[in-house]
Amino acid sequence: MTNSASQIETLYSYESETFAKDVYAIALNNEFCISVFGPDGKVLTTADIGGGCMIHNTDMKMINELYNDALENGGEYFHRAGLTGFQDKKAHVPFANSRYDVRDRILYVAIQEVTDGQLIMMFDAAVEPVNVVKGVITIHLLITTIIMTLVAAFVANALAKKLSQPIADVNRAAKKLTAGEYDVEFTGEGYREIYELSDTLNQTAHDLKRTDMMQKELIANISHDLRTPLTLITGYCEMMRDIDGENNPENIQVVLDETARLSSLVNDLIDLSKYESGSQKLNIESVDLDFLLLETVERYRKLMTDKDFTFIYESVGPTFARCDKKRILQVIYNLVNNAINYSGDDKTVILKLSVTEQGKNLVEVTDHGEGIAKEDLPLIFDRYYKVDKVHKRAVTGTGLGLSIVKGILESHGASYGVRSEIGTGSTFFFEI
Ligand code: ADP
Repeated sequence: MTNSASQIETLYSYESETFAKDVYAIALNNEFCISVFGPDGKVLTTADIGGGCMIHNTDMKMINELYNDALENGGEYFHRAGLTGFQDKKAHVPFANSRYDVRDRILYVAIQEVTDGQLIMMFDAAVEPVNVVKGVITIHLLITTIIMTLVAAFVANALAKKLSQPIADVNRAAKKLTAGEYDVEFTGEGYREIYELSDTLNQTAHDLKRTDMMQKELIANISHDLRTPLTLITGYCEMMRDIDGENNPENIQVVLDETARLSSLVNDLIDLSKYESGSQKLNIESVDLDFLLLETVERYRKLMTDKDFTFIYESVGPTFARCDKKRILQVIYNLVNNAINYSGDDKTVILKLSVTEQGKNLVEVTDHGEGIAKEDLPLIFDRYYKVDKVHKRAVTGTGLGLSIVKGILESHGASYGVRSEIGTGSTFFFEI
């Protein structure tokens, strides 16, 4: 109404030729009645769009009262008639005695100063259209809400299916895996996370299969290695009991040798299981590696005097490392024993002690023997791993030597490895 008042004033000031028509258009567009009075107090134009408006259904006395109200209010007067209008605290209630059934209506009077005096504009609108619009909007909103809720439920359901289906597939495959079916394949599809999860689980299945195979192989190998000396011992004992003259020192020596083999195998297995379970406590102290290696070399030289072996020891001199002396000695023994077992025709074993650039002590054991193929190098520290694959009863060792080395060095946090070439020889080393 206020906007229309300024519009009408502009039309009046510019002396619009179609003033009456324009005012009527404004009235129609906005669904309210308008009466415009000129400076002389006479009606300039009036637009009655019907509907029981108050300004077209009252007398000049009332119009004058409205004009005065606007004048008192500084040129503007708003009135909400109808139920609320009658309850208005204002003493003066226009239309209180109106013969019309006054419902909710808004009345607005505006007085504008124009060049030739005052322009008085009166507007009247029913509030009902607003209520009707409100009702329509409410219904629209309700329908929209219902449709949107249904669409959202449908989309959510579809999304949930898309997200949960691959998880259900993976879960199904995982159950097979727990039942020992290691060949199961995880083929989670749909989104990146499920692809990654499937990859990880496929890797896990592969690793489990390998571990399972190794475990079975280990049990088979251990049984084989335990059974062979036991069969020999039983056989020899029966022979000595039953056949005259067989109870001689040579046969007894065989029984003793096999018993020693058995106990060393059992000891190795106990050690290995201790390292692997982490229950082996280390007795860490400061150890002079130079002294330890020198002592070891001397011991081997004495032990192998009649075997034509050469032990060379190269050292930087006394260097100290914090480690468990007994365990590190076992590592050195295992490496030297292997070097002897697999040494070449020159029957030479070289031990070397040096210090790395990072200040670590480097121990190397070298032989000029058969060497190890490249593809076997990463697997050589595995339990019972045999280069020739077929498990043969180790001639001297128990087949667990390098896995014990690995267990001890890893419990020390030491790095280790092997450099080897077929036909040239091998160098096993560790840094501590
Ligand atoms: P083993 O009792 O059979 O020597 P190890 O665990 O000590 O058991 O060694 C595992 C395998 O690694 C051996 O069977 C052998 O094939 C290979 N190997 C170990 N040391 C050497 C070496 N110095 N030269 C060549 N092969 C070696």
